[in-house]
Amino acid sequence: MNVAHPLLEVYPRLYQHYGPQGWWPGEGPLDVVIGAILTQAAAWRNVELALRNLKAANCWSLEAIRQLPPDDLAAIIRPSGYFNAKARKLQAFANHVHHHHGGDLAAFLNQDAGALREELLSIHGIGPETADDIVLYAAGQPSFVIDAYTRRILGRLGLAPANPKAGYAEYQSLFHRSLPPDAGLFNEYHALLDRHAKERCGKTPRCAGCCLREVCSTGQRSDALTLQD
Ligand code: SF4
Repeated sequence: MNVAHPLLEVYPRLYQHYGPQGWWPGEGPLDVVIGAILTQAAAWRNVELALRNLKAANCWSLEAIRQLPPDDLAAIIRPSGYFNAKARKLQAFANHVHHHHGGDLAAFLNQDAGALREELLSIHGIGPETADDIVLYAAGQPSFVIDAYTRRILGRLGLAPANPKAGYAEYQSLFHRSLPPDAGLFNEYHALLDRHAKERCGKTPRCAGCCLREVCSTGQRSDALTLQD
C-alpha cells in the first residue's frame, strides 16, 4: 500500500487555511528577477520601495540597469539595503543576459530547468535560493525554493533531513522526492510556508489553533504538555 508522504498532507491543510497566495507579487519575469536579487536579506516592503524607485527612474529594463553608472543604480535601490552589493549583482545579471543571450530575458528563461539553474548559479550574486526563485517564479519551472522559514517549519514538523548539518540541496531534495514536479504546486507551497511562518510559526510558535497541529511533532508535544499541566 502506498502511504502519502507527510509533505503531501501538510500542503492541503495550509491551502485550506490560507487560500491561494498569488505569488510572485509583481508584473512578470523582470519583476521576479529584480525582486529575487533585491529581497536577499531584506523585507519585502523595502524591496517594493526599491522597485518603485527603479520604475520611477525609468530604469525598468536589463539594458537600462546595465547602462547606469553603478553609484546611480545603488542610490536608486537604496531602500532594499546592501545597495552597493545589490547594484553589482543586478548589473552582473544584466551583463550576463546581454553577453550570452543578446539581452533577451525570455530566451534566457526558456531553457530546461536544470540548465537554467546551472547558468544562474554561475552569475555573481546568485545563490541557490535566488536561482530557484527565478526558475520557479520567472521561468515557471518546478524547482522548490528553500528558505529559513521552510527549514524552521520542517524542523518543527519533524520532517527535516536526519543529518543536522543538512544544507540547501538536502532540504530541496526532500520536496523533489516527495511531490510531483508541478510548478503550480511548488509555487503555492513555498508561498504558503512563508505565510505560515510569518503568521503562526514564528520564532515562538503559536501552536494553539494551528492548522498543522495534528501533523506536527512540536504541536503534539505542546498538546501533551498542556494536558500534564
Ligand atoms: S503546531 Fe506549532 S510548531 Fe507546528 S507548525 Fe503549527 S505553530 Fe509551528
